[in-house]
Amino acid sequence: MGNLAERKELIATVRKMNVLGINHGTSGNASVRIKGGYLITPSGMAYDDLEPDDIVEMSCEGEAAGKRKPSSEWRFHQDLLNARPDFGAVVHTHGKGVMTLACQRMELPPFHYMIAVAGGNTIRCADYATFGTQALSDNALKAIEGRKACLLANHGLLAADVSLSRALSLAVEVETLCDTYWRILQIGEPTLLSDAEMEEVKEQFGKGYGMPQGGT
Ligand code: 13P
Ligand code: ZN
Repeated sequence: MGNLAERKELIATVRKMNVLGINHGTSGNASVRIKGGYLITPSGMAYDDLEPDDIVEMSCEGEAAGKRKPSSEWRFHQDLLNARPDFGAVVHTHGKGVMTLACQRMELPPFHYMIAVAGGNTIRCADYATFGTQALSDNALKAIEGRKACLLANHGLLAADVSLSRALSLAVEVETLCDTYWRILQIGEPTLLSDAEMEEVKEQFGKGYGMPQGGT
């Protein structure tokens, strides 16, 4: 069994998803790219029970190695990692905020500048398809095009980034944005940021926000 450090990081990540309150139970899943393929959480297992050898090793073509069945959502993890070489990790969550908006099949508009962290001026919601199907993967890849996150109609969230820690941070951010947006809608329609204002936000992030002094 190789990639022990990555297996441990994957287990730590899915446990954190639940501790952080952005997921619960055996819902959700995560994957991380390795040489020649990716590692993914097993299907339907409690995260607290996971040991490194419960993690499933997958080839880029979908051949599984290990003693467990891969997550039922291995298709969208695989399709996303194959389509987007910029991604090193993918997380999928069923948080209360993302589920609230996903069940309304709502796109998140630019009501807050942090929408830009997902890579665009909106966060789209993928068309509905049954969990674990190729149709769901196809819909998800379309909705996440040019972005790092999208909602899945009547389901949850998909978020990806260079590393597991970055993908998890993004999932926390989108969960918070969703939770905030439905609260805002209780009072009324928010004033949205314009395209020009969102461009300035992206420029500002591009100046090296969150990077060490002097970094870009
Ligand atoms: P798995 O336990 O198979 O990963 O399924 C959880 C889930 O969120 C399905 O969409
Ligand atoms: Zn799910």
